[in-house]
Amino acid sequence: MKRIHGSDVGMVLIGPAGERLVRFATIVAQKGRSGGRPGIGAVMGSKNLKAVVMRGHGDVKVADPALRKMGVDAIVATKSKPNYPFWMRQGTTSTVEWAQEASVLPTYNYTEGQFDEYEKIGGFAVERSKVVTRSCPQCVMACGHVVKDTEGELAELDYENIAMLGSNLGIGDLTKVAYLNRIADMMGMDTISLGSTLGFAMEASEKGLLKDKIEWGDYKRAAEVAMDIALQRTELGRLLGKGVKAASMELGPEATEFAMHVKGLEISAYDCHAAPGMALAFSTSPIGAHHKDAWLISWEVQRGRFDYTREKVEKLVEMQNIRVVCSRL
Ligand code: SF4
Repeated sequence: MKRIHGSDVGMVLIGPAGERLVRFATIVAQKGRSGGRPGIGAVMGSKNLKAVVMRGHGDVKVADPALRKMGVDAIVATKSKPNYPFWMRQGTTSTVEWAQEASVLPTYNYTEGQFDEYEKIGGFAVERSKVVTRSCPQCVMACGHVVKDTEGELAELDYENIAMLGSNLGIGDLTKVAYLNRIADMMGMDTISLGSTLGFAMEASEKGLLKDKIEWGDYKRAAEVAMDIALQRTELGRLLGKGVKAASMELGPEATEFAMHVKGLEISAYDCHAAPGMALAFSTSPIGAHHKDAWLISWEVQRGRFDYTREKVEKLVEMQNIRVVCSRL
């Protein structure tokens, strides 16, 4: 695109997975900032739309000066939080240690909530391996932690992709997780759904429901299958490219028992066996199991995870509505 349109353009685009209508294909910006958990990359692909390329030179005028003041106030408030320096060191990756402690870390396709090798993929491991921190434009909470993968190439990590491509697959090595993450970014696939789909395949293989072998912790085989999904080049890749719900229905009733999804969307990286409020958040989200609608789990673990109270439900409704209001602004 840059060869065609010039080096000063910005763009959002789909990868090979979007072109082939993989159900969890994303739209990618900045070589790794992706959107599209429910597969909007496949929507672009279905319309033969490869990319939207933009060029702009002017400033954006702010109509109301009060908005600029609100922005400055928010930056000052954010930077003065006691946890801000720690956030800048680890960002969301410290959630690995928190989730392990709370027994909500997806492990072996959500059959466990704790992973023996969590320290090798947690926030402190990321901090030790970090090459650089990346952010979206203008953000003062840079949350992308770039590390080297098994091939020495750079990959950007956060909590969700570490959990889903790490503990959920039985992989306790940050460089291997980074390698899988880089494939997802290069091919334009959602890391949460890809991790869940690979975990589903590993459990199906273990139970003898798949002809193909894919074992827990085998990152090379996981990478091969991820490429098969993106390029739709094998029967297994074509099956898994439909996502866990459709794939499990094709494999039969036994497989639907461990297909981890709500309304067809693979579950974000929180095991809810012991977090009923978060399970309710996932199950009532209009697009399925997405943590962005209501991230209740932190509040719930602090306040009493085994309570089934009206207060918990009201908090959930409040969070869902705050997120909805924010996303409409
Ligand atoms: S915290 Fe900042 S860098 Fe991270 S996703 Fe949000 S806007 Fe982007």
